Amino acid sequence: MKIKMIFSEKCLGYGSWHIEGPERVRKAAEILKRLGYEFLEPKSASEEDLLKVHDMDYVWNVKKSLVEDPDTPAYDNIYEFARLSAGGAILAAEVGGFSIMRPPGHHAGKNGAALGAYTRGFCYFNNIAVAVRHLNRPTLILDIDGHHGNGTQEIFQGDQKVWYVSFHRYPHYPGTGNNSEANCLNFPLRADCGDEVYLKTFGEALSKVDLSRIEVVAVSAGFDTHAGDLASLGLTKKGYREIGKRIAALKKPTFLVLEGGYSGENIGKDVDELLKGFESLN
Ligand SMILES: [Zn+2]
Repeated sequence: MKIKMIFSEKCLGYGSWHIEGPERVRKAAEILKRLGYEFLEPKSASEEDLLKVHDMDYVWNVKKSLVEDPDTPAYDNIYEFARLSAGGAILAAEVGGFSIMRPPGHHAGKNGAALGAYTRGFCYFNNIAVAVRHLNRPTLILDIDGHHGNGTQEIFQGDQKVWYVSFHRYPHYPGTGNNSEANCLNFPLRADCGDEVYLKTFGEALSKVDLSRIEVVAVSAGFDTHAGDLASLGLTKKGYREIGKRIAALKKPTFLVLEGGYSGENIGKDVDELLKGFESLN
């Protein structure tokens, strides 16, 4: 059975000048539609869902467009865009789908910028964290974006129900993720390390997780690890297909949420490769 895409054209309505702009997901959605994926339209996350992850003051400041940093502008109505993206992650969690909405989320911590980072790195609400708290089941979060998900780590560090495992370029933005802490396992990788080193590390990391305690796998799926992208680890389509197979081999209910990736063409193709790998074992 093909995994369903979660997407709303409403997420294309802001920030066309920014590198995290609408074109990246517009193009990806177009490619995935052409490849025959079924699409579902999400509803906005409720404020109650946001407050399971973020402090009330922070949610209020986003709502009033009062919080801004050099990476992460206070766009008009960004609260509604961010709430819809978080709702996409919730729907993905409910149906075992793949939300390809924007804005991304994994740099957003409880109060915004997380673990000492200077900016929120294009993120407003932590979509995957909202979805994981919404499901409220023991979850393994696999973060395959090329940047460390400092927001997700901050939110779940010490949470007995959640394991967070991240593979990211280091040293690089946001400057965190060089060491593992408690339930947060970090695997820093050198720039352009390539498929082979990446997949070896991926295998070692998964061998450290007690899968008997996990009921759900949630994937923070960024594609800026693609060779030449913003946090390139030199990955190729073969790499993404193999990552998909390794995730499927965990044999758990799985959902995926888009993070980074700044070429829509690559995102569309890489999502398809990853899911082809995933579905070959399902
Ligand atoms: Zn990234």
